[in-house]
Amino acid sequence: MDRPSIIHKDLAKQRQTPNWTAFEDERRRFSWQFAHLATQRLPGGGINMGIEAVDRHAAGVLRYHVALRFLSRTLPAIEISFAELARLTNRFANVLQGLGVGKGDHLFLLAGRIPELYVALLGALKNGTVVTPLFSAFGPEPIATRIQLGAGQVLLTTDHLYQRKVCQIRAQMPTLRHVLLVAEDGGVTHETDTLDLATLMRDASDCFEVSETSEDDPALLFFTSGTTGTPKGALHVHGAAVAHEATGRYALDLHAQDRYWCTADPGWVTGATYGIIAPLLHGVTTLVDREEFDAERWYTLLEQEQITVWYTAPTAIRMLMKAGPELARSHCYPALRFIASVGEPLNPEAVWWGQEVLGLPIHDNWWQTETGGIMIANTPAFDIKPGSMGRPLPGIDAFIVKHMEAEGEPPRVRIIEAPNVEGELALKSGWPSMFRGYLNNEARYAKCFAGDLYLTGDLARVDADGYFWFIGRADDVIKSAGHLIGPFEVESVLMEHPAVAEAGVIGKPDPMVGEVVKAFVSLKAGYEAGEALRLEISAHARKRLGAAVAPKEIAFLAVLPRTRSGKIMRRLLKARELGLPEGDTSTLESGA
Ligand code: AMP
Repeated sequence: MDRPSIIHKDLAKQRQTPNWTAFEDERRRFSWQFAHLATQRLPGGGINMGIEAVDRHAAGVLRYHVALRFLSRTLPAIEISFAELARLTNRFANVLQGLGVGKGDHLFLLAGRIPELYVALLGALKNGTVVTPLFSAFGPEPIATRIQLGAGQVLLTTDHLYQRKVCQIRAQMPTLRHVLLVAEDGGVTHETDTLDLATLMRDASDCFEVSETSEDDPALLFFTSGTTGTPKGALHVHGAAVAHEATGRYALDLHAQDRYWCTADPGWVTGATYGIIAPLLHGVTTLVDREEFDAERWYTLLEQEQITVWYTAPTAIRMLMKAGPELARSHCYPALRFIASVGEPLNPEAVWWGQEVLGLPIHDNWWQTETGGIMIANTPAFDIKPGSMGRPLPGIDAFIVKHMEAEGEPPRVRIIEAPNVEGELALKSGWPSMFRGYLNNEARYAKCFAGDLYLTGDLARVDADGYFWFIGRADDVIKSAGHLIGPFEVESVLMEHPAVAEAGVIGKPDPMVGEVVKAFVSLKAGYEAGEALRLEISAHARKRLGAAVAPKEIAFLAVLPRTRSGKIMRRLLKARELGLPEGDTSTLESGA
């Protein structure tokens, strides 16, 4: 069907007056100093993300307002008001203090969407303890790697996850002093060398003296993947709360009376930032569904929970589209007024599907772990061009740049002024949620900057109206169902299998999840390629990496294409897989 290239915003038809309506004016007026006024300072002048998100409301009119509402198929709903959340997070902060865990120490969280995870994350922030949520579908390998890199002192997990994934790798994590366990059936945990969280929480005090954190003190550590080497720990600070508040206002249009649902898991940066921090900063009621994706359930929740603002992802939207419009139309959504999506390209059809089936367009927005918050977005303040990521938010300056440096030199770039020219997306440094470093990896951090421009690693173009259009990644990282996967991490685990001589991993385009992880392996002498071995290697990868990261497809090759310096040419593997031109192969080792 031919559709217009623009969806016009009609203020008169909006279900609620948006937070902003004049793009240019707001950008001109905006300053980050001014945005700081939306937060409350600590008495000593510092800022603490946990206090901003919870205690500020617990001490005000929103005290008895529901902050978090947890739903599952089998358990009764659990609601936690801001006042209760303040008490619980104080208790957790006291638990940490009691264990000698303080400011700057590292807590890792490995759990599903359970209340204890939310309480722990916020309580740790109040204690000045740096928090890293891990995806609960990770296998033992990604868990151990991240805890080692982050030198985690404390891990909070559930008894089931501990038995399945942590027990076996505990010896590999020598910095880990305490493991706090949540009993998933609500009882007491009985593992040895662990502590029962419920018992500690019961015995802890409700009162806590917040840690005096400054805007530059580390708060959250999120791991992200690069093309080579181990995952990178991107460090974020307490002052990032200023950006979380501002972007929640501009890109998600949050208002205090909203009933908000972010479908991202808190084990990833979106689920922690926009599933916990940003909505709490705005005093909204956040729905947390503990179940996995189910189209019928999701429509029922949108309707029955009277969700007003919904933040989801392209893979989920495509799965809903696949379930058919009849299912969507068998429910009605009179409360719903704003839908946004992030994490991977959102096809124009998906934006239109929202408009035609749910009565609202879907607002694509763009950001990444390093930026700590939404940077470019379709917002209530201007028309949507379906297929575009939108325009830079107030306080954000985005450019398309071309690299000028010679091989091996530090980045040097030129800004491309002309519209619609492809280049790397770059952002002018200086917004509060920008990452402050890759943990213990100054060199990798330095490579992300050319002067005061942060280089995102994404290829894009900007049109004459200032809308940005995503083109692809400049590197080999894989985006599957919105999750960033580093090929190196997968290749390393494949290489552990005794039959595997070499491994190369690519993202293979997939109509549903964006890309699936596909591995190419060559075998050591004495091993025969065949279905039995393929299944064995696949099972090994799933066991070590977890289902979310392990390859979905494995192919055998006699030899993998390498450069003369010995690097696997993933670009070539991908081109061959897709039947695309092979490009420059001058560095290819002969015979590959
Ligand atoms: P992560 O750091 O895991 O959040 O992944 C960030 C990456 O996801 C970005 O650098 C992009 O490659 C991709 N991404 C995020 N949002 C979008 C979007 N709206 N459109 C296209 N790609 C996106």
